[in-house]
Amino acid sequence: MTAQVDEDVPPSTKLKATCRTEACQMNGEPITGTYFANAEPPTYRGWCGECDRPITDLVPV
Ligand SMILES: [Zn+2]
Repeated sequence: MTAQVDEDVPPSTKLKATCRTEACQMNGEPITGTYFANAEPPTYRGWCGECDRPITDLVPV
């Protein structure tokens, strides 16, 4: 049994995530981290550790 690898999507990539939740301490603070690709879109998912909400502002570094 061989694992199917999607050549178009790297298994992990560095992204800059910026929380956009007002009232969150990390609002507007970009955090760079390594993100792993998911099988279904959205491929990369960020989660704010401060306000516990999904981060939609993800940009490649
Ligand atoms: Zn936040």
